[in-house]
Amino acid sequence: MAEVGGSYKSALTKEKEDELRNIAAKIMAPGKGILAADESTGTIGKRLSAINLENNETNRRKYRQLLFTTPNFEEHISGVILYEETFHQKTDGGERFVDLLRKKGVVSGIKLDLGVVPLAGTIGEGTTQGLDDLAKRCAEFKKGGCDFAKWRCVLNIGSHTPSHVALLENANVLARYASICQQNGLVPIVEPEVLCDGDHDLARCQKVTEQTLAYTYKALADHHVFLEGTLLKPNMVTPGQSSPKKATPEEIGHATVVALRRGVPSAVPGVVFLSGGQSELEATKNLNAINQVKLIKPWGLSFSFGRALQASVLRDWQGKDENIVKAQKTLLHRAKANGDAQLGKYTGEDAAAAAAESLFVAKHSY
Ligand code: 13P
Repeated sequence: MAEVGGSYKSALTKEKEDELRNIAAKIMAPGKGILAADESTGTIGKRLSAINLENNETNRRKYRQLLFTTPNFEEHISGVILYEETFHQKTDGGERFVDLLRKKGVVSGIKLDLGVVPLAGTIGEGTTQGLDDLAKRCAEFKKGGCDFAKWRCVLNIGSHTPSHVALLENANVLARYASICQQNGLVPIVEPEVLCDGDHDLARCQKVTEQTLAYTYKALADHHVFLEGTLLKPNMVTPGQSSPKKATPEEIGHATVVALRRGVPSAVPGVVFLSGGQSELEATKNLNAINQVKLIKPWGLSFSFGRALQASVLRDWQGKDENIVKAQKTLLHRAKANGDAQLGKYTGEDAAAAAAESLFVAKHSY
């Protein structure tokens, strides 16, 4: 007769579990976070055109080289998310970016999703594609030096959204992606982003974020995902971008931690927030406030910012070689500010040192 429970088979070997756990721990090192530099070719093109640069392979490579060769950024950056093109690129000296990052002790990650497509019959909702061939792609990126991955799903807040089908479908696709990543030795960053578009208040964003997390972790459990070898990349809980009622960092911190406590199992080692269109200053202040909340927080709480780490860097660079040193100093400064915020020890900075303007883009794609 079969033993009770004997029919259960772990999805991963003990060695694979340990490998994933160790990668996640390295990324979640205290005082460090992730630089999201995985903008697709279209999205980075918008950033480059804002400083009058052509969106060609050379300019994209030069910009990413500027970021990754910043002296000492590894003191505050534990991981970098790459776009597929960047994964294949090299420095002027012919060194692969992935190798350069590894030498600095920075973990390379890869954006694996292939973007958002419409869910027919819904009110403007979508799902994220890219599951076909995913196992093969994971194996190639792992072999090439990546140890983690990202997949972004989006949920919209509207009077009738997010719908059950959007919540269910996005949770399921995230779980399927996470499972495939883990089978191939990549730590999946699970990113169910509740967009900040809209005039809803803080409480509504909190409720929708809680629902989204509940659907997401139910699906991850159904798919036997090893939670200790995952990271969550959520939105911070904020009022809608066009809400007349603004919230303080303390209110945002509290609402965010309450939502996470209700929806994120304590087995998850880390939560790395996206910046989602907040200004650089707002994102840093809010991360600091989140880490100062006086409630038990069983996970590390850090950053995986794209816009809020790069806006001032691009502004300072302007595509000119003579500005590289200045732009790198700016990146180091922002990385340190966010590293301090990860520790709840950010004490503010010169108004001129960070962009205070909103980095909001309506219905942002990545
Ligand atoms: P932002 O910080 O610009 O929102 O982007 C982070 C990211 O990787 C979104 O997928």
